[in-house]
Amino acid sequence: MNEAESIGAASADLGPRLEGELITPEHPGYDEAREVWNGMVDKRPAAVVRARSEADVAATVRFAAEHELLLAVRGGGHSVAGQGTCDGGLVLDLGGIDHVVVDTDANITRAGGGCLLRNVDLGNQAQGRVTPAGVVSHTGAGGLTLGGGVGWLTRNFGLTCDNVAHFRVVTAAGETVVASEESNSDLYWALRGGGGNFGVVTEFGYRCHPFPTEIPVAVSYWPLDQAPAVLRRHAELMLERPREWKATVFVSRPGAARGVPAEMVGKPCMSMVQVWAGTELADAEAQLAPLHDVAKPAFEQLGQMPYMELQTLEDENAGRGKNNYTKGGYLDDDFGDGAIDALLTSAEELLNEESIVEVIPHGGAQLDLGDADTAFPDRASLYSFNVYARWPLTEENDAHIAWVRRAFDRLDAHAGDGVYVNFFNPDEGGSQDRVLAAFGRERYDKLAGLKHRYDPTNLFSLNPNIYPAEAA
Ligand SMILES: Cc1cc2nc3c(=O)[nH]c(=O)nc-3n(C[C@H](O)[C@H](O)[C@H](O)COP(=O)(O)OP(=O)(O)OC[C@H]3O[C@@H](n4cnc5c(N)ncnc54)[C@H](O)[C@@H]3O)c2cc1C
Repeated sequence: MNEAESIGAASADLGPRLEGELITPEHPGYDEAREVWNGMVDKRPAAVVRARSEADVAATVRFAAEHELLLAVRGGGHSVAGQGTCDGGLVLDLGGIDHVVVDTDANITRAGGGCLLRNVDLGNQAQGRVTPAGVVSHTGAGGLTLGGGVGWLTRNFGLTCDNVAHFRVVTAAGETVVASEESNSDLYWALRGGGGNFGVVTEFGYRCHPFPTEIPVAVSYWPLDQAPAVLRRHAELMLERPREWKATVFVSRPGAARGVPAEMVGKPCMSMVQVWAGTELADAEAQLAPLHDVAKPAFEQLGQMPYMELQTLEDENAGRGKNNYTKGGYLDDDFGDGAIDALLTSAEELLNEESIVEVIPHGGAQLDLGDADTAFPDRASLYSFNVYARWPLTEENDAHIAWVRRAFDRLDAHAGDGVYVNFFNPDEGGSQDRVLAAFGRERYDKLAGLKHRYDPTNLFSLNPNIYPAEAA
């Protein structure tokens, strides 16, 4: 049976068995159903299944396996690489599986595999709880968690994947299993950082932590000529900072809406968003003081901010309907003068107000687990960086992609080998070189053994793909 015939059979056979919908190209909602976050990714699947239940997921997985269809599993559709869709095959969209149930006695939040971060945050905050996750609320919890998950509270509570107590997973055989410390512990290891290689997660059992509904946040801007001294001090302090504190460094050309002084609007500058995972403003102020001693920011806002506001600060800037390209890695731990020069040179070359380079601090609770405890690589790196360009669909891609590559190459000269799989770009998504760079040989081989066990035919291939090891 060829692909078109298989999908014809899908409509006739799979569709009626679903609680959710099966959408083919003739359907009026097809274009909406096939759209993903990154405008650069414009693919035409033969059908999109909008699953509503675990049974829908199992039926779709079995169907794709039986008919040997290319299968894309979509959580929030946010992967820059566009791995939540495909040309010609079947898309399994989990967006309808978005339950959130918070058990405040056990401090466990059960969240559906298609939840967005917003769903999880809102459910948790209503109960005075939090699970650490990413910084844009329309990101899918699925892809983010399976690849690691870094956000404002990572230094305080660890990676998102470190905070999963159990996963419910539909395997390539269409069977549902639970993976936890006690049950299928090898799968539990692989799912914490190994991406969507091992099955479709229908439920994450997140650990949730008692947490306030507002916390101290500071947003500060410095002109570029003051940035080297401030960044040097920032790097010196890094090793002694408490885990409650996190300061992400950005270079950008801020727009007027950011509240920066008129003379800085549209000009390259350096900023920090600093977050204190506690209640006292004075604790945050104490963290800002050593940077002020070096150079007072040209503009700074410090105050209590509702946690949900922090989690949605970048939502509009990072909305759908734009082209996006990114490339990142892990900086050398000293964040030394070479890296600072590279960062600031790339700032001078920024092409618009929406593109940025960010340097994210790690350490803290992320180090409470050992390197071998989960599949997540590069746990010990102190800084990750990400060069990120974003531009209107009407503009040519080349200049923006070239800026990303140039800025990346400069920083990469001061970086280790690793790469964070959740920030692969469309060129890296299918690259075994980049997957190997991300996991390293030894970890890759262990994952390949587990892939052979849980997905021997590589049904789940649209992810940082691990090829199944040959049968022993
Ligand atoms: C604007 C923006 C902000 C971001 N911010 C952060 C951040 O703060 N921190 C961070 O760590 N990352 C961040 N990311 C990266 C993000 O983690 C990845 O893009 C991630 O892949 C998004 O997951 P998704 O489910 O939305 O993506 P999708 O494109 O739907 O899926 C990505 C991959 O995950 C797999 N997948 C998704 N859900 C499941 C599931 N339930 N079961 C099995 N496989 C699944 C898919 O098959 C695919 O391989 C950001 C990305 C963007 C675009």
